Amino acid sequence: MSVILVHGSVETKTDPPYMLGLEAAALTAYQELARGHDRLTAAEKAVNELENNPLYNAGLGSVLNRDGYVEVDGAIMDGVTGKFAAVAAMQEVRHAVSVARKVMEESRHVVLAGTGATLFAREHGFSADNCITAVQLASWETAIHLKRSGKEVEFSAFTGLIKESDTVGCVLLDDHGGLAAASSTGGSFLKLPGRVGDTPYIGGGIFASSYCAVVCTGRGEAFISTLTAKFVEEEIKSGSHPQEAATKAIHRLHRLTGEFGGILVVDSSGRAAAVHNCVSFPVAMIRNGILEQVPLVQLPSHNTDTFETSDVT
Ligand code: ASP
Repeated sequence: MSVILVHGSVETKTDPPYMLGLEAAALTAYQELARGHDRLTAAEKAVNELENNPLYNAGLGSVLNRDGYVEVDGAIMDGVTGKFAAVAAMQEVRHAVSVARKVMEESRHVVLAGTGATLFAREHGFSADNCITAVQLASWETAIHLKRSGKEVEFSAFTGLIKESDTVGCVLLDDHGGLAAASSTGGSFLKLPGRVGDTPYIGGGIFASSYCAVVCTGRGEAFISTLTAKFVEEEIKSGSHPQEAATKAIHRLHRLTGEFGGILVVDSSGRAAAVHNCVSFPVAMIRNGILEQVPLVQLPSHNTDTFETSDVT
């Protein structure tokens, strides 16, 4: 049995183009597995597909930071070997998840950040790409203009003013019972340069073991400080169904931090869950090569987490 889930982040639209992009990414992962490629390659390729799609805040189409450029985070984890690697606050590279994979396989390190991550990417053949789209640039210019004119306008912390989507992630179970998780993001709109979210934090926004694979989306700082991905894994290890574990984790996240987000998880039996407490959380799932409806749980507290122009310093 193989099970693949991908998400396009909380607050992302669920209109056909967004859903089709997710389905295509899940299908890519399935095809990789069907060709005999390993689970990490399948998860990486699914995320690459979303990094290439400007509708999502990962790779091309990432949100801009306070100073008007893109810094991306990405991570990958193998539930079988326990190997993890990540890049953080990396500039001018589209495929953060693939650079993380290279860090895992071609370096002695676990996490590379900033200019060192970019240098490593160049040394491994990743070409320069500022990842900026006209939509994201317009969103950033609007935010800065409003700030300068002293107008108090609310922006979604997850989507920006015009931006419609956010972090992308993939969890999968392969035919041999192996689990993997992969994630990529442009982070949060108007973040300070150098800010790192939960995506590259093992146990914060991503985790994989022999029990389950987990990826998270939402306010990164909250997922880091609560070690939410690891919490989900511990719950599943103790016998919880993934849906029960993820629901408990979202309630806990909100109780401890007042924040909002979504969790995608699959366990070693192929049981999957997608739980969030925001306005939307588009997810696609392929089980044994067939698209299936994801058991999506929307918890009652909706996202009120916003940035105001006064947050743009
Ligand atoms: N968690 C990501 C971050 O804080 C953003 C998101 O998932 O929406 O960088």
